[in-house]
Amino acid sequence: MDTVSHALWGYGLFGSRGRPWTALFMGAAPDLASFGLFALVRLAHGEPIMGKPPLSIIPQWCFLAYDTMHSLVVASIAIALVWRKRPGIGFAMLAWPFHILLDIPFHARSYFPTKFLFPLSPVTIDGIPWYTPSVWTANLGALAILLAYRAYRKRGPAPAPSLEGTEKKKGP
Ligand SMILES: [Zn+2]
Repeated sequence: MDTVSHALWGYGLFGSRGRPWTALFMGAAPDLASFGLFALVRLAHGEPIMGKPPLSIIPQWCFLAYDTMHSLVVASIAIALVWRKRPGIGFAMLAWPFHILLDIPFHARSYFPTKFLFPLSPVTIDGIPWYTPSVWTANLGALAILLAYRAYRKRGPAPAPSLEGTEKKKGP
């Protein structure tokens, strides 16, 4: 999926417990840490960054950053470490593995397939590219429903409980 969609999915699904900006950022982080950094490097060199760059100009570090940040193994370990101390942040970080789960079926092997078990296994799935019109339309529709639901819940009388700082219920 595109990076903005990933950020909004993260916000919509995991931004409800007091960490909306963390969820938004973690939803986009796997792409920001690879393509985003590469785009900044190209900008610094005065190169145009419109469209997806051809594989031939992408440096090795970008592939490594992409594979590392698109690994369910890496994401699980990082989230487990954070969750022990800061469960609220850990919950918002679930936007990261959700990004990976979305990329697995919607990236073709020809351009950045998702090595979701990196570095344990190079296995990938030859998916349908996210920019295929039917996939893209379904993505926008599902995102619109999710964000509308989130906005509805935000205005409603019963907000979702926070994982952090919840007080134990006092007995009668
Ligand atoms: Zn991605």
